[in-house]
Amino acid sequence: MVNQQCHEVVVLGAGVSGIYQIKRLVDLGVDAVVLEADDDLGGTWYRNRYPGARFDSESYTYGYSFSRELLDEWHWKERFSSQPENLRYLNFVVDKFDLRRYMRFNAHVVQMLWQEDDRTWRLILADGEELTARFVITGIGVLSTPTLPSYPGMDEFEGDTFHTYWWPKTPVALEGRRVGVVGTGATGIQVIAEIADKVDELYVFQRRPNWSTPLNNSPISEAEMAQIRARYDEIFANCAASPNGFEHVPDRRGFWKVSREERMNLWDALYETPGFAFLAGNFPEIFLDEAANAEVSEYVANRIRQRVRDPAIAEKLIPRDHGFGTQRLPLETRYFEAYNRANVHLVDLSEQPIERVTKSGIQTTAGQVALDVIVWATGFDAITGSFDRLDVQGVGGATLRDKWRDGPGTFLGLASSGFPNLLMIAGPQSVSGSTNFPRAIESTVNWVTDLLVHARAEGVSRIEAQPQAETAWGDVVQRAHDRLLSRRSRGWFTGYNGNVSGHDAGKVRYVAYFGVGPKYAARLAEEAGAGYPGLDLR
Ligand code: NAP
Repeated sequence: MVNQQCHEVVVLGAGVSGIYQIKRLVDLGVDAVVLEADDDLGGTWYRNRYPGARFDSESYTYGYSFSRELLDEWHWKERFSSQPENLRYLNFVVDKFDLRRYMRFNAHVVQMLWQEDDRTWRLILADGEELTARFVITGIGVLSTPTLPSYPGMDEFEGDTFHTYWWPKTPVALEGRRVGVVGTGATGIQVIAEIADKVDELYVFQRRPNWSTPLNNSPISEAEMAQIRARYDEIFANCAASPNGFEHVPDRRGFWKVSREERMNLWDALYETPGFAFLAGNFPEIFLDEAANAEVSEYVANRIRQRVRDPAIAEKLIPRDHGFGTQRLPLETRYFEAYNRANVHLVDLSEQPIERVTKSGIQTTAGQVALDVIVWATGFDAITGSFDRLDVQGVGGATLRDKWRDGPGTFLGLASSGFPNLLMIAGPQSVSGSTNFPRAIESTVNWVTDLLVHARAEGVSRIEAQPQAETAWGDVVQRAHDRLLSRRSRGWFTGYNGNVSGHDAGKVRYVAYFGVGPKYAARLAEEAGAGYPGLDLR
C-alpha cells in the first residue's frame, strides 16, 4: 500500500496528531499514508530527548481517549510521564493498531503544488521522489522547528553543542563537565533542574526570567492506575468541559469578591497541587485585570524569594517585564533550589549580554565563561514555522509563506483559502497550541475525518475555506487575544521569536486561538451541523 505513488490522503507527520489521524483513516478503509521526515515516529516525543523532558499535562489526560482497550492496557507510571516513557507509549499505540505499515520514514516533503486540473496535491520529497494526493492533512506540530541564535562564532565552539530539540540519541556525558544552558523557557527550566546536581559547573545564560510553578510530580501505583482507569470517562468529560483541556477548573468566586486572605489560601493550596493547577485553577481575573495579575505575580515572586537563598539571585529570577500567566507557564521540579547550589551560576544577559561564542565557551561583555558543553534551549519558530519551511503553492501558484508573512489566516485553524484540500491538525489559530494538546487534536482529527466522510458521500473532491469565513475567524481570534493581558507578551504564543526575522517584539502575529476549548469544540460542531457553510465544497 505505502509504495503507491497516488493516495487519497497523505498525512504529514507521525507524531501525536498523525498517529490518530491515520488510525481514523485506516479504520474507514481510506487509502492513506503518513509521510514522516524523521527516521521514526513520535514527533515531539521522538525529538526532545534532553534530560528532564516530561509532560506537564497529567499523563492520563494526555493519552489518547479513543480506545477503551488501550486505556485499560496502558499503565502510566508517573503523574507527569518522562520523554522515554512517552515515546514508548506512542510506539505501543502504533504497534497495537498495526499502523506502522502506513507510515513512511525519512520522507521529507519539501514542496507541495496544487494541481487545479485534477484537484490533487503534488508532493515533492527531499530526495526528488514525487507523490500525489487528493487531500493533504498536516500533523507537523506546533513546536517542531527549533531556532538558534546567530551569535558570532557559533560554529567555532570545540566542545559538544546542540539545541535541546536535537539532543543526541546517544548518551551525552555531563558528569564532571562545565555546561552552559542558554534559555530559561519551559525547556531550559527542565534541563537546568535535572542536570544541576550532575554536572561539574552549570552556567545558566538567562535573557529574561520566566514565571514557573511546581510540577508536583509523583509515581502512579498499580492501585492508583486502577482507580484512574475506572474514572477515565469522567476524566475525559472533565477535560472536554474545562477551558484548557485539563481537569483543573477556574475558581469563579470572583477575585475581588473574596477576601485577600481567601485568595492567599487558594494560592497556598494551588502551589502544592500537581500540574497546571496554579494557572488553570486560579481566578480568571488574573488574566484580564492588571491589579489582580499584579497581586498574584507578587505571591509567586514571594515564593521564589522563599526558595532561593541569595536575595540578589532571587530578584534576578523574578520576571519584571510580564505578569504571571501572560506567557506560557513552565512547570518545574526544584528549579529554584538549583540556584542554591555552589556549582550553579546565573549569568544575567540583561547585565552582561553575549558577545560571541568562542572555541572554548561563551564570551559576554563581562568576560569569557569556559565551557565543555553548550545547550541551546532557545525555543522554536512556533506554530507557523514548520509551514513556512514547506514550499506550499496553492491556487495560481500563490505561496502559503507569502500569504502568512505577517501572520496566518485560517478558517478555524483547519484550512486556509487559496489552498484547497489542505487540512490542518493543530494548525495556526486553532485551540491546540494553547490547551492540553491531545485533547484538542482528537476532536480536530474527528472533525476532519467526518468532513472527508461527508465529502466522499457527496462526491466532493475540492474543499476550500471561504475567504469571508476566514476573515470572520481572524476577527474572533484577534478579539480573544486582545482581551487578555498576554496580548503584550513576548513569547511564542503571540508569534514572537527574536531569532526569526520578521517575528519581532511588538509585532503581534495572531498565531493561536485563546478562546476556551469548549467554545472551540462548539464552533466546530456548529460548522459541521450546518453543512460546512465556511467551506466551499465542490
Ligand atoms: P521558549 O519558551 O521560547 O524559551 C526560549 C528561551 O530561550 C527564552 O528564555 C529566551 O529568552 C531564550 N532565548 C532565545 N533566543 C535567545 C538568544 N538569542 N539569546 C539568549 N537567550 C535566548 O522555548 P522552550 O523553552 O523550548 O519552550 C517552548 C514551548 O515548548 C513551551 O512554552 C511549551 O509549550 C513547550 N514545552 C513543553 C514542555 C512540556 O510540556 N513538558 C517542556 C518544554 C517545552 P527570552 O525570553 O528573552 O526571549
